[in-house]
Amino acid sequence: MAYSTETRVFPINPDNPEAEPIRIAAELIREGRLVAFPTETVYGLGANALDAEAIDKIYRAKRRPASDPVIAHISDMAQLDQLAQNIPPKAYELANAFWPGALTLVLQRAPGIPPNIATGLSTVAIRMPAHPVARALIQAAGVPIAAPSANTFTHPSATTAEHVLTDLRDHVDLVLDGGPTHIGLESTVVDMTGDIPSVLRPGGVVLDDLKTIILDVEMIERYTSESEHTSAPGQMLKHYSPKAPVTLFTGPLYSVLIAMKESCQMHKERGQRVGLLLAEEDCHHLGEVGVVVSLGKRTDLRSISHHLFAGLRELDAQHVDVILARDFGRAGLGAALWDRLVRAAEGNVIKVG
Ligand code: AMP
Ligand code: MG
Repeated sequence: MAYSTETRVFPINPDNPEAEPIRIAAELIREGRLVAFPTETVYGLGANALDAEAIDKIYRAKRRPASDPVIAHISDMAQLDQLAQNIPPKAYELANAFWPGALTLVLQRAPGIPPNIATGLSTVAIRMPAHPVARALIQAAGVPIAAPSANTFTHPSATTAEHVLTDLRDHVDLVLDGGPTHIGLESTVVDMTGDIPSVLRPGGVVLDDLKTIILDVEMIERYTSESEHTSAPGQMLKHYSPKAPVTLFTGPLYSVLIAMKESCQMHKERGQRVGLLLAEEDCHHLGEVGVVVSLGKRTDLRSISHHLFAGLRELDAQHVDVILARDFGRAGLGAALWDRLVRAAEGNVIKVG
């Protein structure tokens, strides 16, 4: 059964959060209720990470399968030792380098931590966010906060409070509206429980930066078609999906843009409304062929990342029949962008050139 409630919304200053909304939000968390809040990556749907019943409400609100674990958010290092055990030295090195920030570490779960936070696995994923609202909330609550992205399962993640309300109105007790999130893509998830640290999900902290701290980190790319228990849960191919089907084009840029233009024309001849996710400079190549969302300048992957999920949602709001998107390479944030785009497209990728 879904978690139903009346949703309140409080505006909050993202740089200097006011005490009163934080106090009320923290009280709700301690009571076992759900609070959506901004982090620097995307909005989170938070519950007391030490309260199994509260965590269960997250799954019900998101309509998320019980096989997709959630991340515990902390505000100080003592909470790391509370949640995890047998923490390897490399995990502390990564934490020292990137926390607070967009890095999540998968570690062995400590005894007494609710197993449903990790869908019964023996691990727990932990992140110390940098966003002042997230930090103030965790501190005031006095407990770590379990928080997956605040969207309905398989939808694009929420990067504004409006996105949260579109998906979760009447399924979350309070939304703290601190404006659009900064990074716009989720955290990088690194599994520290094996012999070699492995990136389960590329995200806000890029591989090259991880390698400046630990040399032997590796990237695994694995997508599963259904929700199943694996060591890399949450890697379902269908994820971040807008309502309209997405086709992703990859290859040399010029060939990609020509192929996209041809595809637009074909869809238009069928009477379909086409949505396009492009970089600013691509737009004049394609002209007036469809509803265009410009994500930012070609080389500005921060801007592209920041606008991606909002762009997918915008095209849904415009009721397009199909969405055409293009690859932004694999360097830096490109790896995370590729991962989100492939999954938005449910693997429907066209290689050109
Ligand atoms: P979200 O909170 O929506 O950003 O998604 C959380 C993601 O983190 C999941 O979908 C998994 O990919 C990953 N994750 C969370 N907990 C674990 C865990 N214990 N082991 C492996 N991956 C995890
Ligand atoms: Mg998510």
